[in-house]
Amino acid sequence: GLETPLKDGDELMLYPALAGGSHTFDELELHELALEFEEKPAQELLVWAIENFHPRLYIAWSGQVEDMVLLDMAWRINPDVRVFAVDTGRLHEETYRLMQEVEDRYGVRVEVYFPDAKDVEELTRKYGINCFYKSVELRHLCCHVRKVKPLLKALSQVDAWITGLRREQWASRHNIMKIEVDHDHGQIVKINPLADWSEREVWEYIKKNAVPYNKLYEAGYRSIGCEPCTRPVAPFEDPRAGRWWWEKDAPKECGMHCSIETGGFEKIADKVI
Ligand code: SF4
Repeated sequence: GLETPLKDGDELMLYPALAGGSHTFDELELHELALEFEEKPAQELLVWAIENFHPRLYIAWSGQVEDMVLLDMAWRINPDVRVFAVDTGRLHEETYRLMQEVEDRYGVRVEVYFPDAKDVEELTRKYGINCFYKSVELRHLCCHVRKVKPLLKALSQVDAWITGLRREQWASRHNIMKIEVDHDHGQIVKINPLADWSEREVWEYIKKNAVPYNKLYEAGYRSIGCEPCTRPVAPFEDPRAGRWWWEKDAPKECGMHCSIETGGFEKIADKVI
């Protein structure tokens, strides 16, 4: 359901002073706005986001169709919109090609954040280049090093971010609001304009507006992440079944959109030989 996350007696926190310093939102106000935007088109929410937060606003880009819809819509509102990507070092070549295509077509620079080189060296020297197949703990550690930490770096630069999360994608996403306070990332504002969109609606927008998309979709992919951890799915499978497919009963999340406790290198060291 979409009930308020606030309970009576909860303390209201104020969130970062926004672009121009004109207005500061509290959690209750953001929740009311989320309810208001629930029935409105994604574009209206993007207008609100850009008016209130740009240039301290990022669109998250990982080469998925949802990101392309948001970028295309936001670019039509303000061609200076800012886009960022986390380059884990393990992305598909098709994703890099699309990134270049995005830059050429929209005239934006995708601001790329990389993992810390020392972390990656430690991870791979200790556990091997493809350690994520060995255990769920190592998979989470790899996601922590290659995705979550660079994401934190990116989000420390802004007051709000826009994501392509959709409720139907996975159980952990069923309850997302269109506007949320991101408690995992410095209490910035997280905006999910496509929360109520279906996969079909996403593709309709892509086709209607001739938006470029990742060629991996033509090879049967329906969710795109790192190359070694993503595979195409059969038509009858859940679209996210192609992510970390060897893990059973795992969250199918990397920790970017929900916190996953890894404990870092120290904790893992006791467990892995
Ligand atoms: Fe590492 Fe796979 Fe996570 Fe990418 S998706 S960061 S390769 S574990």
